[in-house]
Amino acid sequence: MVDLTGKTALVTGSTSGIGAGIAGALAGAGARVILNGFGDPEAIETLCARLGGRYLAADLAIPGQIRDLMAAAGPVDILVNNAGVQHVAPVEEFPEDRWDALLAINLTAAFHTIRHAVAGMKQRGWGRIINIASTHGLSASRNKSAYVASKHGLVGLTRAVALETAGTGVTCNAICPGWVLTPLVEKQVAARAAETGLSLAEAQVSLVAEKTPSGQFVTPEQVGAFAVFLCSPAADQITGAPLSIDGGWMAQ
Ligand code: NAD
Repeated sequence: MVDLTGKTALVTGSTSGIGAGIAGALAGAGARVILNGFGDPEAIETLCARLGGRYLAADLAIPGQIRDLMAAAGPVDILVNNAGVQHVAPVEEFPEDRWDALLAINLTAAFHTIRHAVAGMKQRGWGRIINIASTHGLSASRNKSAYVASKHGLVGLTRAVALETAGTGVTCNAICPGWVLTPLVEKQVAARAAETGLSLAEAQVSLVAEKTPSGQFVTPEQVGAFAVFLCSPAADQITGAPLSIDGGWMAQ
């Protein structure tokens, strides 16, 4: 059992999907969790009550709001940069404003949160930075230029920060999930069903099968358990690593 009692964990984008899974796992290991993300206020309140956590609103596309978030959070021991968005379109049709927003949320926000949190982690001699990248941080798919660029950038940021923190007690890693059935992916399932005439259930199977040798989704709980492991002493020497959890996607 990993004991994170006394540690404060900030998980961005934890009102839904993978972030909620990670926040749940960290809280289960004893960490004080700080939640962030958009969503229905009542649902957020229920989630906070369930995890014994607190919620701080911030739009991570806006650096000023990230500064306020980090100031309100106070010292953060475990920083999980998870908030992310997707937009699917061929590069020649990709809307410029979607590119800018996607890069701001998926990549630049992690620079800002790390910049604010890392000095305190180094001073205290312990810290964990976990960036939720993707298989798209290591490989590409068609029509996802901004997402692929942002996630490759996040893996690069992970490596650079790992070198700057090596030997300080702070580690920085990227988790690279394959398909996880969350609202972000449900939209892509619905688009596939609309394009192909498949049912939603058939579109799910076809989406996963295309890239994933196991033919199965990764779950938010599995990503959460992986994040908890990265906070354990067993992971003290794991740093700068893009770590796959993808049913074999990257083995191909
Ligand atoms: P999701 O849509 O369920 O959750 C995204 C979270 O980010 C939500 O809490 C949302 O409110 C928050 N968010 C979005 N824009 C924000 C902003 N501007 N400011 C603050 N919060 C914002 O998606 P998910 O699938 O759980 O994705 C979480 C992360 O995992 C993302 O970085 C995504 O790229 C990554 N990922 C997802 C998959 C997958 O298959 N679902 C695979 C690999 C990586």
